[in-house]
Amino acid sequence: MTTKYEAVVGLEIHVQLNAATKMFCDCPNRFGDEPNQNTCPICLWFPGASAQLSREVVEKAVGVAMTLNCTINQRSRFDQKVYYYPDLPKGFQLSQFHRPLAGNGWVEITGEDGALRRLRIRTLHLEEDVAKLVHETEGKTRVSLVDFNRAGCPLVEIVTEPDMRSPYEAMEFVNAIRTLVPGAGGAECSLERGTMRVDANISLRPAGSQELNVKVEVKNMNSVRGIGDAIAYEIKRQQELIQKGEAIILHTRLWDPKSGRTLPMREKFSGPCVPDPSVPEVVISDQWLAEIKNGLPEIPARKQLRFVEEYGLTETEAAGLTVSPESADYSEAVIRAGIPARLAAQWIAGRLLPAAARRGLTLAETKITPERLAGLLALVENGKINPNAGRQLLELLFEDGRTPAEIAREQGLDQAADSGELEKILARVLAENPRAVEDFRKGRSQSLGFLTGQAVRLSGGKADPRLIRQKLEEKLRSE
Ligand SMILES: [Zn+2]
Repeated sequence: MTTKYEAVVGLEIHVQLNAATKMFCDCPNRFGDEPNQNTCPICLWFPGASAQLSREVVEKAVGVAMTLNCTINQRSRFDQKVYYYPDLPKGFQLSQFHRPLAGNGWVEITGEDGALRRLRIRTLHLEEDVAKLVHETEGKTRVSLVDFNRAGCPLVEIVTEPDMRSPYEAMEFVNAIRTLVPGAGGAECSLERGTMRVDANISLRPAGSQELNVKVEVKNMNSVRGIGDAIAYEIKRQQELIQKGEAIILHTRLWDPKSGRTLPMREKFSGPCVPDPSVPEVVISDQWLAEIKNGLPEIPARKQLRFVEEYGLTETEAAGLTVSPESADYSEAVIRAGIPARLAAQWIAGRLLPAAARRGLTLAETKITPERLAGLLALVENGKINPNAGRQLLELLFEDGRTPAEIAREQGLDQAADSGELEKILARVLAENPRAVEDFRKGRSQSLGFLTGQAVRLSGGKADPRLIRQKLEEKLRSE
């Protein structure tokens, strides 16, 4: 008997904060400028320059941490993450390891089975970005240049517990972060533009076991789909190694979207993480903490409560709709369009969000506006289409920009509810009009129009003439 394995996935996510300045100096925190324009002795890391932690950076980071349900550590410290590389001439990166800014957070996602799942965040800490290496060719010589515009820019790093069991759950976690965090106003979180970077740690273990085996880190994914694909590839690669009896070795791999594979990468030497003596301890008073909290937009928990009170939803239903500000706004628009809240909740949390996540899309990136989903749900609500047809129609809405009613009609989905009824009508029309049937067989195709008209009249005008004509023609030609 072969052992069944399950995947154990944890994520490390770097998010660029959108503060006006860098973390320890007044240089602009801005991208796309000429190389080495936004620099000063502090972020060029000249000896003797003294770092001043930005108040705004701390506030933005605390806002992000609160949004992700983290506990804020009112006293935190910086450490020196020691490594030596051209993108870091001073030889260490200021980060928080031993005493991070926040931790014990969580994010809720809708699992593949439609049930809510809470994924834990272990720590959330501040970290300065490093410089950027630019590789070019001058004549025939390959050169590497260093651009310090990014050096010292403010990041938060979010480290999850190894709670994810599938590529889908990791993608959903990333989707939740990139809607929740921008909702709090602290960061953009674009994988495509690099304002969010996601690394995944992946290992396998026998299903049901609690052990944590040797993990492999995968980097370089720049889309949600890329994250899902890279994790799926890595799970398969490790399964094959285990089957061959080979050991998994701790190392880092790069995702190559072109070939759809992960490849081993040459690693930077990484040294110890030692307490930094130069930047003072970060102390956040009760009052400052309260100010930051009051300055945040409506937090998901408050919104969830409002959904229960205003729309009569259960807590679970409300939680499913308020997983992100985006899905909450979307749901309110669907409900305001006249759709019963419970029906909207079932379809948005249970079907639309998972379907969008499978495609690696946010709601805004799909073609399905709240108006279009409301159109679909109105068809279901009024019995024009049955729920099964509604599910098919939802999938079609991702590809087709026409109204749900138009697509349902064209695909014959609106007939699915009473196709038995339609068959009876067609049989009756053919039996009652033998002359028209005879005429059609003799090649007088205009009699098809007559028969169609009869059938539409018998249906009380509800049946779709195009569909009836098509079905009648099929019947006449097959006899
Ligand atoms: Zn600077």
